[in-house]
Amino acid sequence: MAARGSRTALLRLLGRRDVASGRSAPRRRCSGAPVRAPLAGRSYADLYALSVRDPDAFWGSVAEDKLTWSRAFERVKDCDVERGRIGWFLGGQLNVSVNCLDVHVARHPDRVALIWEKDEPGTEVRVTYRDLLETTCRLANALKRHGIRKGDRVAIYMPVSPMAVAAMLACARIGAVHMVVFAGFSSEALAGRVQDAQCKALITCDQGVRGGRVINLKATVDAAVKSCPSVQHVFVARRTGDRVPPGKLDVPLEEAMAKEPAECVPEAMGSEEPLFMLYTSGSTGKPKGIVHTQAGYLLYAALTHQYVFDYHAGDVFGCVADIGWVTGHSYVVYGPLCNGATTVLFESTPVYPDPGRYWETVQRLGINQFYGAPTAIRLLLKYDDSWVKKYDRSSLKTLGSVGEPINREAWEWFYHVVGESRCPLVDTWWQTETGGVCIAPRPSEEGAEIRAAMAMRPFFGIQPSLMGDKGEVITGNDVSGALCISQPWPGMARTIYRDHDRFVDAYFKPYPGECFQIIHSPTHSLTHPTTHSPTHLLSHSLTQSLTHLPDHPLTLSLNHPLTYPFTYSLTHSLTHSLTHSLTHSLTHSLTHPPYVLFLNSGHYFTGDGAYRTVEGYYQITGRMDDVINISGHRLGTAEIEDVLDEHPEVPEAAVIGISHDIKGEVPFAFVVLKENDSLDQKAVLEELRSLVATKIARYAVPDHFLVVKRLPKTRSGKIMRRILRKVAMGESENLGDVSTLDDPSAVTEVIQACAQYRMQMSQKK
Ligand code: AMP
Repeated sequence: MAARGSRTALLRLLGRRDVASGRSAPRRRCSGAPVRAPLAGRSYADLYALSVRDPDAFWGSVAEDKLTWSRAFERVKDCDVERGRIGWFLGGQLNVSVNCLDVHVARHPDRVALIWEKDEPGTEVRVTYRDLLETTCRLANALKRHGIRKGDRVAIYMPVSPMAVAAMLACARIGAVHMVVFAGFSSEALAGRVQDAQCKALITCDQGVRGGRVINLKATVDAAVKSCPSVQHVFVARRTGDRVPPGKLDVPLEEAMAKEPAECVPEAMGSEEPLFMLYTSGSTGKPKGIVHTQAGYLLYAALTHQYVFDYHAGDVFGCVADIGWVTGHSYVVYGPLCNGATTVLFESTPVYPDPGRYWETVQRLGINQFYGAPTAIRLLLKYDDSWVKKYDRSSLKTLGSVGEPINREAWEWFYHVVGESRCPLVDTWWQTETGGVCIAPRPSEEGAEIRAAMAMRPFFGIQPSLMGDKGEVITGNDVSGALCISQPWPGMARTIYRDHDRFVDAYFKPYPGECFQIIHSPTHSLTHPTTHSPTHLLSHSLTQSLTHLPDHPLTLSLNHPLTYPFTYSLTHSLTHSLTHSLTHSLTHSLTHPPYVLFLNSGHYFTGDGAYRTVEGYYQITGRMDDVINISGHRLGTAEIEDVLDEHPEVPEAAVIGISHDIKGEVPFAFVVLKENDSLDQKAVLEELRSLVATKIARYAVPDHFLVVKRLPKTRSGKIMRRILRKVAMGESENLGDVSTLDDPSAVTEVIQACAQYRMQMSQKK
């Protein structure tokens, strides 16, 4: 089996032979204690270097060790990045629910899997691994009894709760594909996703409870399914038990489950069969159904959960995200459960019943890792510190921030006030598409520095690249560019549901190309500089590339402290003799290890920009497209524009994001109204607000509406959002390049309208 071979390779590469022969072990251990071998005791530099240099050896070994397979995989990976074809652990079969439940029930059935921190203050519900397996199996059997089969899509529209987790795992058990929709989305947004995914069933609950308020989820579902002919059943779980009007498709979930056996034979799933899909915003008006598959996703979620948060067996892991977002998938459900952790399900809000809610929960549940969103931290730091200090937070070991940039003030408050300046605070950068954390201060060498508000270090197997305007890899440090990841990793998305072309266009087309990179950095080193010399690696990689890419132009980038960064661009294919002479001439300057050598073929474009510091750390600088981040929720401005354009009185609208001190960003809408003297502007704006709330969600409603006569456009008719962004932020000069503007007086009009609007707003205050 290939995996066994790769395990041997990993042990060899990790230097077990060295230990036996008494040669010195790596300097400092990697932070984070592995649950199991084989990563124990190695330095971060060793592990990272191995993971990018020999991903097959690294991931093959970890997959074999960390996951339970019903059939061993034959090949670690097979990827053609440029075509968006990604495959990991091919030939292998497993069941995700077995890895999250059965394996732990076999060892410690009474360990608590879930602690449901209900909205009602002080009311927690503990669910053991045994109980969760039983609930999952009954629910899985109920789904099967109602005709749900492997490959069918099942929508889940529920707030975080043990039943919602069981619903996800039940789908995984029978091979159905779950599609969780955040329970704050409107009925139309829900319907759009259910239609696109062609869901056969929907699982919901009677009502939701949040911050003391009751939310009629079932009513939203009833309105949605009217336009979703694919839905055959609506399973309704009880949350409040209040009577809600029954629908024709309803199946009372608890009653259906009570009739079912508590065992359900798990479906053997191929590694690359879909596990779930999750809709996220892109730069067009239509959300994308991001698809994740079984083994690679689970492995990546579990390994990042363990290493980024320094999770140890027995810890209580508290991620306060909702399961409607990818954070809830990876760090409330799959990562922690695969690691056998006790994971907290937080149903409430940070300020209910008071701003001490999070910290009272930390004290009562003994939370060891607390992972939350900057928007909540920005809200809480406005209250007196006594709301934090009156609770015992000595259980806390690691703090984490997720979903959006964290500003320095929030970071400092979180670190010093909440964490008493003793808990590492990890600013984790990742996306729905990446499946798990890609850049974060941990793992690292034990005790390595953490910079405030910076994601810093790539996770194992993640090879960040910064790209320039011409599509070139920017080498060296103290540079900025478009953030790409230049090597596939197991957790990455596999496609956009029913739109693979969009997947390729959005993520792989912007930065295509084959290139080698040799990176030197203090944090990267080769395990065996002597046996794997730069010469050896370079010639090996060049030869490999000849095999894989015989007719492609190649770019060779070298970044070395002793030489200035340079690039060889080869417009014809390499011959073996050219390989040899190139290797020879390049390695003349490569006399000082450590190095990491990379072989790239196409890059995954993240949509974000980043800065690489002098030391080689990564700082995310923000989105490069028209996607904004409201309280950690990603939203394409085009989605809001499409809704505004639907109003009969609105010929056109442009939405941009402006910064907000708590929510991070908020939408600002510039609206053009039809010329009509009898038009009641106020009423139209009110209609627009409610249109956005019903079509998307309440959080998407723009904070600002500005009626303008026309929008500034280029001569080719494109709205110049860059200018609108500056004007909305109060700038009237230094608007950048305006040479392509069709009519500059449109900008003057917008500036005047905006100044007037600001004056009105400040008078209101
Ligand atoms: P989502 O897929 O909804 O999780 O959103 C992912 C996007 O959120 C990223 O592309 C970034 O723009 C932003 N983001 C997530 N985490 C961070 C972070 N730690 N720092 C800065 N931006 C972040």
